[in-house]
Amino acid sequence: MSHVRWNPMLGEWVIVTPKRASRPFQKKDHQCPFCPGQEETKGDWRVLTLENRFPALSPDVGPVPLDGDIVMEAPAFGICKVIITSPEHDNQIENMPDEQLELIMKEYLRVFKELDKTKGIEYVFQFENRGKAIGVSLNHPHAQVYAMPFIPPRISREITQARKIWEREDECMVCQIIENEQKSATSRIIKKSENFISVVPFFARLPYEVHIYPLSHASSLAELEGQLLELGRMIQDIARRYDAVFDENAYIMAFHTRPSSGTHPYWHFHIEFYPPWRDKSRIKYLGGVETGSFTYTNDSSPEEIAKELQEAL
Ligand SMILES: [Zn+2]
Ligand SMILES: [Zn+2]
Ligand SMILES: [Zn+2]
Repeated sequence: MSHVRWNPMLGEWVIVTPKRASRPFQKKDHQCPFCPGQEETKGDWRVLTLENRFPALSPDVGPVPLDGDIVMEAPAFGICKVIITSPEHDNQIENMPDEQLELIMKEYLRVFKELDKTKGIEYVFQFENRGKAIGVSLNHPHAQVYAMPFIPPRISREITQARKIWEREDECMVCQIIENEQKSATSRIIKKSENFISVVPFFARLPYEVHIYPLSHASSLAELEGQLLELGRMIQDIARRYDAVFDENAYIMAFHTRPSSGTHPYWHFHIEFYPPWRDKSRIKYLGGVETGSFTYTNDSSPEEIAKELQEAL
């Protein structure tokens, strides 16, 4: 049975899911379980959210108050969902019309709101794994949601940093980052729309890392309700640029929202993209320095990569 174990060396939870290793990988396209008319997907839809059939976290075990000092192991409480973002198997986001983009973004928001208020959930993590290069088992366009019983470590670190600046300077870290990127002499800005900006950040750890920031100080998708299509178009724009640059499109897209409980005035919602490529066809492997010491060596210049992505379309 899935459970979480406390790693005291790193001060973080590990989700242990022994039986997920045997989950099926797609063999032939016609067996795709996400295409309409299959056992779970049935009828007519444009966007469909399903329970993950091989969840790392399960709602059935009930919330467990997690505290690394007392609880060292607990059932893996949480909710995992899959958002199928198109009924068409090969219709990637690059080619989707506005109508579909808006439906997808509205579904992200609906699922976020639903899980965000679920008892025992501390963080709703929405993300997309795309492409064989990062080991995606199904080609059919889909995103995932993990509603977690704890705040994940990467978010915790961002919270610590954002809080420090909020308390010391009475200012938002991401608002400052946006301001700095806008007045920087070398533009790392990929695209600016009325309410959003996408950039290769000054401090990128990965060669093709891109962030999308709302220009307004919003802490979650719930505050961006009127701008969802515009945000969908920004995501599509990045996917198109990656598609033009890489031999094979692949990336991880992560929504960084505020935690579910408490108030988080310092938090500024954003989306981060982590493609696995170091250039158009070579993988950027995480080696000894990255994995063994958590220090990233970015062997390309964020300014040059920004230029490449700016000129890609
Ligand atoms: Zn399919
Ligand atoms: Zn802000
Ligand atoms: Zn972030």
